[in-house]
Amino acid sequence: MLVECLRNWLPKFGVPVYFKNALLTTIIILGISLVARGSANIVLNPSYPESQSLRNWRSKNHAYLTKIVEEKKYLQHSTRHSMAPQEKISSVANVLTNETETKFRVKVTSKISDPQQKFWYMACDNCYKSTAAQYLWNITCNVCHAETVAKLRTKFAMTLSDGTTELEAILFGGLAEKYLSLPANDLMEKDEQNEKVDCAAINTQLYGKEFNADIRKKKVQTRYGPENQYTVFGLEEIQ
Ligand SMILES: [Zn+2]
Repeated sequence: MLVECLRNWLPKFGVPVYFKNALLTTIIILGISLVARGSANIVLNPSYPESQSLRNWRSKNHAYLTKIVEEKKYLQHSTRHSMAPQEKISSVANVLTNETETKFRVKVTSKISDPQQKFWYMACDNCYKSTAAQYLWNITCNVCHAETVAKLRTKFAMTLSDGTTELEAILFGGLAEKYLSLPANDLMEKDEQNEKVDCAAINTQLYGKEFNADIRKKKVQTRYGPENQYTVFGLEEIQ
Protein backbone atom coordinates (compact mmCIF):
# COMPACT_ATOMS: atom_id res chain seq x y z
CA MET A 1 0.00 0.00 0.00
CA LEU A 2 1.31 3.43 -0.89
CA VAL A 3 0.84 4.72 2.59
CA GLU A 4 3.21 2.01 3.85
CA CYS A 5 5.84 3.16 1.34
CA LEU A 6 5.37 6.73 2.52
CA ARG A 7 5.63 5.62 6.13
CA ASN A 8 8.98 3.92 5.36
CA TRP A 9 10.38 6.30 2.79
CA LEU A 10 9.53 9.80 3.88
CA PRO A 11 11.07 9.55 7.37
CA LYS A 12 14.42 8.81 5.70
CA PHE A 13 14.34 12.40 4.58
CA GLY A 14 13.00 13.62 7.87
CA VAL A 15 9.59 14.46 6.43
CA PRO A 16 7.09 14.21 9.24
CA VAL A 17 4.14 11.99 8.40
CA TYR A 18 1.72 11.21 11.20
CA PHE A 19 -0.65 8.27 11.28
CA LYS A 20 -3.26 7.65 13.94
CA ASN A 21 -5.84 4.93 14.26
CA ALA A 22 -9.01 5.49 12.30
CA LEU A 23 -10.83 4.32 9.21
CA LEU A 24 -9.04 4.46 5.86
CA THR A 25 -9.55 7.48 3.67
CA THR A 26 -8.22 8.69 0.33
CA ILE A 27 -6.27 11.90 0.03
CA ILE A 28 -5.66 13.34 -3.42
CA ILE A 29 -2.54 15.47 -3.78
CA LEU A 30 -1.45 16.82 -7.17
CA GLY A 31 -3.69 14.28 -8.89
CA ILE A 32 -2.16 11.33 -7.01
CA SER A 33 -4.35 9.56 -4.50
CA LEU A 34 -2.89 8.39 -1.21
CA VAL A 35 -4.71 5.93 0.98
CA ALA A 36 -4.32 6.81 4.62
CA ARG A 37 -6.18 6.57 7.88
CA GLY A 38 -8.98 9.08 8.33
CA SER A 39 -7.17 11.01 11.00
CA ALA A 40 -3.76 11.02 9.28
CA ASN A 41 -2.05 14.38 9.04
CA ILE A 42 0.27 14.66 6.07
CA VAL A 43 2.28 17.86 6.34
CA LEU A 44 3.33 19.27 2.99
CA ASN A 45 6.26 21.67 2.70
CA PRO A 46 6.81 21.88 6.44
CA SER A 47 9.39 24.43 7.59
CA TYR A 48 11.75 22.00 9.35
CA PRO A 49 15.50 21.67 8.67
CA GLU A 50 14.85 18.08 7.57
CA SER A 51 12.47 19.22 4.86
CA GLN A 52 15.13 21.65 3.61
CA SER A 53 17.48 18.68 3.17
CA LEU A 54 14.75 16.97 1.16
CA ARG A 55 14.49 20.07 -1.04
CA ASN A 56 18.27 20.05 -1.48
CA TRP A 57 18.13 16.38 -2.42
CA ARG A 58 15.42 17.20 -4.95
CA SER A 59 17.57 19.98 -6.45
CA LYS A 60 20.58 17.65 -6.76
CA ASN A 61 18.48 14.96 -8.43
CA HIS A 62 16.50 17.36 -10.57
CA ALA A 63 17.40 15.73 -13.91
CA TYR A 64 16.44 12.25 -12.77
CA LEU A 65 13.20 13.41 -11.13
CA THR A 66 12.26 15.39 -14.23
CA LYS A 67 12.74 12.21 -16.28
CA ILE A 68 10.46 10.26 -13.95
CA VAL A 69 7.79 12.97 -14.16
CA GLU A 70 8.08 13.22 -17.96
CA GLU A 71 7.81 9.45 -18.35
CA LYS A 72 4.94 9.48 -15.84
CA LYS A 73 6.26 6.33 -14.17
CA TYR A 74 4.05 7.10 -11.20
CA LEU A 75 1.01 6.45 -13.39
CA GLN A 76 2.06 2.92 -14.34
CA HIS A 77 0.11 1.36 -11.48
CA SER A 78 -2.82 3.73 -11.71
CA THR A 79 -5.55 3.69 -14.29
CA ARG A 80 -7.70 6.34 -12.63
CA HIS A 81 -5.36 9.20 -13.48
CA SER A 82 -4.01 7.98 -16.79
CA MET A 83 -4.11 10.22 -19.82
CA ALA A 84 -6.86 9.97 -22.37
CA PRO A 85 -6.61 6.64 -24.20
CA GLN A 86 -4.43 7.05 -27.27
CA GLU A 87 -7.15 5.93 -29.65
CA LYS A 88 -9.71 8.40 -28.30
CA ILE A 89 -9.52 11.48 -30.46
CA SER A 90 -11.65 14.45 -29.42
CA SER A 91 -12.81 17.20 -31.72
CA VAL A 92 -11.53 20.70 -30.98
CA ALA A 93 -15.18 21.74 -30.55
CA ASN A 94 -15.50 19.13 -27.79
CA VAL A 95 -12.34 20.40 -26.06
CA LEU A 96 -13.83 23.89 -25.99
CA THR A 97 -17.22 22.87 -24.62
CA ASN A 98 -16.44 19.83 -22.45
CA GLU A 99 -16.48 20.99 -18.81
CA THR A 100 -15.95 17.60 -17.17
CA GLU A 101 -12.67 16.37 -18.65
CA THR A 102 -9.31 18.11 -18.47
CA LYS A 103 -7.11 16.12 -20.87
CA PHE A 104 -7.80 15.53 -24.53
CA ARG A 105 -6.09 14.22 -27.62
CA VAL A 106 -6.92 16.00 -30.86
CA LYS A 107 -5.82 15.43 -34.46
CA VAL A 108 -5.03 18.87 -35.81
CA THR A 109 -3.14 21.13 -38.15
CA SER A 110 -1.28 24.00 -36.55
CA LYS A 111 0.08 27.47 -37.15
CA ILE A 112 1.58 30.38 -35.26
CA SER A 113 -1.00 33.15 -35.59
CA ASP A 114 0.84 35.89 -33.69
CA PRO A 115 4.41 36.46 -34.95
CA GLN A 116 4.77 39.46 -32.59
CA GLN A 117 4.47 37.43 -29.40
CA LYS A 118 7.46 36.74 -27.17
CA PHE A 119 8.77 33.20 -27.65
CA TRP A 120 10.67 32.68 -24.41
CA TYR A 121 10.77 33.63 -20.75
CA MET A 122 13.21 33.36 -17.87
CA ALA A 123 12.22 30.44 -15.64
CA CYS A 124 13.17 28.74 -12.39
CA ASP A 125 15.04 25.63 -13.53
CA ASN A 126 13.15 23.55 -10.98
CA CYS A 127 9.46 24.46 -11.30
CA TYR A 128 9.53 26.53 -14.55
CA LYS A 129 7.66 29.45 -12.99
CA SER A 130 8.84 32.77 -14.35
CA THR A 131 11.50 34.74 -12.52
CA ALA A 132 12.77 38.31 -12.81
CA ALA A 133 16.40 37.10 -12.52
CA GLN A 134 18.89 37.27 -15.37
CA TYR A 135 20.10 34.26 -17.35
CA LEU A 136 22.05 31.76 -15.21
CA TRP A 137 21.77 33.83 -12.03
CA ASN A 138 21.64 31.74 -8.89
CA ILE A 139 18.19 32.09 -7.39
CA THR A 140 16.08 30.89 -4.51
CA CYS A 141 12.76 30.45 -6.25
CA ASN A 142 9.87 32.40 -4.74
CA VAL A 143 7.45 29.67 -5.79
CA CYS A 144 9.14 26.30 -5.15
CA HIS A 145 11.90 27.65 -2.84
CA ALA A 146 14.57 25.58 -4.61
CA GLU A 147 18.08 26.96 -4.77
CA THR A 148 18.65 26.78 -8.48
CA VAL A 149 19.43 28.92 -11.52
CA ALA A 150 17.41 31.05 -13.93
CA LYS A 151 17.18 29.38 -17.34
CA LEU A 152 15.58 30.32 -20.62
CA ARG A 153 12.41 28.47 -21.48
CA THR A 154 10.57 28.55 -24.77
CA LYS A 155 6.88 29.36 -24.67
CA PHE A 156 4.48 30.51 -27.33
CA ALA A 157 0.85 30.38 -28.39
CA MET A 158 -0.20 28.36 -31.42
CA THR A 159 -3.50 27.84 -33.18
CA LEU A 160 -4.78 24.29 -33.54
CA SER A 161 -7.53 23.43 -35.98
CA ASP A 162 -9.34 20.23 -36.93
CA GLY A 163 -12.06 21.43 -39.27
CA THR A 164 -14.70 21.72 -36.52
CA THR A 165 -13.18 24.88 -35.08
CA GLU A 166 -9.86 26.14 -33.73
CA LEU A 167 -8.35 26.95 -30.37
CA GLU A 168 -5.29 28.74 -29.10
CA ALA A 169 -2.97 26.66 -26.94
CA ILE A 170 0.42 27.23 -25.31
CA LEU A 171 3.45 25.11 -26.11
CA PHE A 172 6.39 25.01 -23.68
CA GLY A 173 9.97 23.81 -23.31
CA GLY A 174 11.43 21.06 -25.47
CA LEU A 175 8.22 20.59 -27.48
CA ALA A 176 8.22 24.29 -28.34
CA GLU A 177 11.92 24.27 -29.31
CA LYS A 178 11.35 21.23 -31.53
CA TYR A 179 8.38 22.91 -33.22
CA LEU A 180 10.39 26.06 -33.97
CA SER A 181 13.62 24.11 -34.67
CA LEU A 182 15.28 26.78 -32.50
CA PRO A 183 16.79 26.48 -29.02
CA ALA A 184 15.69 29.05 -26.43
CA ASN A 185 19.15 30.70 -26.41
CA ASP A 186 18.80 31.51 -30.11
CA LEU A 187 15.39 33.05 -29.42
CA MET A 188 16.86 35.36 -26.78
CA GLU A 189 19.72 36.30 -29.11
CA LYS A 190 17.23 37.10 -31.86
CA ASP A 191 15.40 39.44 -29.49
CA GLU A 192 18.64 41.12 -28.49
CA GLN A 193 19.42 41.73 -32.16
CA ASN A 194 15.86 42.84 -32.85
CA GLU A 195 15.25 39.91 -35.17
CA LYS A 196 11.92 38.16 -35.45
CA VAL A 197 11.13 34.47 -35.51
CA ASP A 198 10.27 33.64 -39.12
CA CYS A 199 6.76 32.40 -38.39
CA ALA A 200 5.68 32.60 -42.03
CA ALA A 201 8.43 30.13 -42.99
CA ILE A 202 7.53 27.78 -40.14
CA ASN A 203 3.82 27.96 -41.01
CA THR A 204 4.60 27.27 -44.68
CA GLN A 205 6.83 24.32 -43.82
CA LEU A 206 4.18 22.75 -41.58
CA TYR A 207 1.19 23.72 -43.71
CA GLY A 208 -1.27 20.82 -44.03
CA LYS A 209 0.77 18.54 -41.74
CA GLU A 210 -1.29 16.79 -39.10
CA PHE A 211 -0.34 16.31 -35.48
CA ASN A 212 -1.67 14.31 -32.56
CA ALA A 213 -1.76 16.95 -29.84
CA ASP A 214 -2.39 16.21 -26.16
CA ILE A 215 -4.08 19.17 -24.54
CA ARG A 216 -4.61 20.04 -20.90
CA LYS A 217 -7.54 22.35 -20.13
CA LYS A 218 -7.38 24.49 -17.00
CA LYS A 219 -9.58 27.26 -15.64
CA VAL A 220 -7.49 30.33 -14.75
CA GLN A 221 -8.43 33.70 -13.25
CA THR A 222 -7.76 36.66 -15.50
CA ARG A 223 -8.68 40.32 -15.12
CA TYR A 224 -11.63 39.57 -17.39
CA GLY A 225 -12.82 36.76 -15.10
CA PRO A 226 -12.29 32.99 -15.26
CA GLU A 227 -11.05 31.73 -18.62
CA ASN A 228 -10.00 28.36 -19.95
CA GLN A 229 -6.31 27.96 -20.70
CA TYR A 230 -5.09 25.22 -23.00
CA THR A 231 -1.58 23.75 -22.79
CA VAL A 232 -0.10 21.31 -25.29
CA PHE A 233 1.81 18.65 -23.34
CA GLY A 234 2.32 16.20 -26.19
CA LEU A 235 2.76 16.87 -29.90
CA GLU A 236 3.61 14.28 -32.50
CA GLU A 237 3.51 14.68 -36.23
CA ILE A 238 1.40 12.04 -37.98
CA GLN A 239 3.61 10.55 -40.68
ZN1 LIG B 1 10.74 27.29 -8.76
